[in-house]
Amino acid sequence: MKRVLYPGSFDPIHRGHIDIAARVAENFGTCVIAVGQNADKKTLFSQEKRVEMAQQAVSYYQKHLAKDGAPNIEVVGYDGLTIDAAVANGCSAIIRGARSLWDVNEEKRLKWINKKLLAIRFNTEMEQIIFKASPDYDYLSSTDVKKLCEAGEYILAMSYVLPPTHNELMKIFLEKDYHQALGGFWWQAFIKPFEGRSYHNLSHIAYMINRLAIYKRQGGKIENEQNLQQAIFYHDYSENEEESASAIPYTNKELRSLVRATKHLDGQEKTLSGDEQIIHDLDLSILFDKDNYSDYANCVKDEYADTCSEEEYRQKRREVLDILSQTVDYKIFPPVVKEWAIRNMGREKENL
Ligand code: ADP
Repeated sequence: MKRVLYPGSFDPIHRGHIDIAARVAENFGTCVIAVGQNADKKTLFSQEKRVEMAQQAVSYYQKHLAKDGAPNIEVVGYDGLTIDAAVANGCSAIIRGARSLWDVNEEKRLKWINKKLLAIRFNTEMEQIIFKASPDYDYLSSTDVKKLCEAGEYILAMSYVLPPTHNELMKIFLEKDYHQALGGFWWQAFIKPFEGRSYHNLSHIAYMINRLAIYKRQGGKIENEQNLQQAIFYHDYSENEEESASAIPYTNKELRSLVRATKHLDGQEKTLSGDEQIIHDLDLSILFDKDNYSDYANCVKDEYADTCSEEEYRQKRREVLDILSQTVDYKIFPPVVKEWAIRNMGREKENL
């Protein structure tokens, strides 16, 4: 069993990185993800934050995605040379991932430098492996994740990173949407209540903001867009819709009723106005998402896991899925999505 160092910037860590780390752990024993500090490379996240984000992503992977038991993956930060980090962390090999021929050439260059440095410093050699990216992930790059977020394509960014990473990205990128919707209110204070939540968090708001933008781009009618955006930001601010509606810092009756329109499980037939219907549908749009549904189900579970036992969770979640499957109905999306939502929920119920 070997300890293998997997060095990089991980700014931020994405699904391709995690895939390599998991395969390394499976094949060799332990993968040590080493988050580097490179003075030449300007990073979006501090090294401390990148280490924390890598740890969160690894935990999510081990809990929800690893197939045969949790692979041994550790995360460390390091300054200076990769070979020094390898020695300091007791590793006998260094691994790098390569997506393309260009990557392979670059990795060969680094490999050669490491080989020479190891010989000069320690008079030794170390196995250096280049792992080919799996075809599912070889189009992913941290740079593209950041570009997509910058462009407001938050839903597509979800395919690149694991949910805890996406939520961290939203702390940075969603701020501009927040100011556009709410003006100068203080973002850092606003995001406090969302901390520690796995589903009702900034990623969920970003998902709805992105879907609203798509709806608008496709010619969908909106009565008061700014009200709608504000309601999206506030609809999960507190524990329930009533409290969230009351938390809005200024009196705006329409805004409050938009927040109340996101109450889905009261079994009430509702007559919703145009914008109320939009926010209602946006809030439930994750249910028909084929790519992101399974992460949604994992995050819902994580959010409620601490409040009840596994068995209680399963029972409650089944009840919720039954109600939603019977009542789910969208007015602003094509009729076919209702079928997709029911299928997704059915699958979740089977796997509970
Ligand atoms: P760098 O170390 O050049 O800053 P990153 O932090 O982005 O690069 O990536 C760390 C390591 O992961 C590198 O070996 C890189 O080639 C590899 N890698 C990057 N993206 C992928 C991917 N999509 N699939 C597999 N490996 C990847």
